[in-house]
Amino acid sequence: MIRTAYYTSSTTDVAHCPKSTLPEYAFIGRSNVGKSSLINMLTRQDGLAKTSSKPGKTLLINHFLINGTMIEPPRPKAGERKQKPTFQPQADSWYLVDLPGYGFARAGQTQREALKRMIESYCLYREQLVSLFVLVDSRHAPQKIDLEFMQWLGEQGVPFAIVFTKADKLGRERLKWNIEDYKKALLETWEQLPPMFATSSEDKTGGEELLAYIEGINEEVRTSSV
Ligand code: GDP
Repeated sequence: MIRTAYYTSSTTDVAHCPKSTLPEYAFIGRSNVGKSSLINMLTRQDGLAKTSSKPGKTLLINHFLINGTMIEPPRPKAGERKQKPTFQPQADSWYLVDLPGYGFARAGQTQREALKRMIESYCLYREQLVSLFVLVDSRHAPQKIDLEFMQWLGEQGVPFAIVFTKADKLGRERLKWNIEDYKKALLETWEQLPPMFATSSEDKTGGEELLAYIEGINEEVRTSSV
């Protein structure tokens, strides 16, 4: 379970991501897939990731410190500027990263290419990245753009899991079929399937399994580095 979640920074440049050794988990998917709603559900903070914000505002790598402590600055003296709070990680802290949606239909070609470069650099060079969560809408058949992105992740050796969103919009059987269809599409090029989660931010389901998965990896990292 997540105790606290604080937004700490945004950047367009992977080199300007927080300097930290905390494990990092990044969420990505096409716009409108339900990414902000999922992040808000996981952190139990309704306004944390901006739901349905304008594309221009979502072209950033956003970091959220999980299970950290916020330290309020001392009260400013007369004439002094108010300082910003700082954040202190705890033993079980990690970073949740909100990546921009790829393949924005509304963005121009130049912007789309810059976005692609930024996402690729983050995936390839962010050493703290433990796993990506690729979000796909559980109602739709596997989409080329998502499959191509996963293919690229696989080729580059970037670990990822798949999150099927908006599960409440389908009946239980239909959801199962759609996930099976997805597995079939992946098995055309993959020998092993990535971990998969079905979630609904509407019904608040699937979040605990996803967080248990993250916590399990963090626990392994902690015990192996002692
Ligand atoms: P983002 O663009 O990927 O961040 O997507 P948002 O979180 O803004 O969600 C896009 C739309 O889908 C909004 O209208 C949400 O209310 C809706 N939505 C997101 N998650 C769910 C879900 O689990 N169930 C249902 N029924 N609607 C959802």
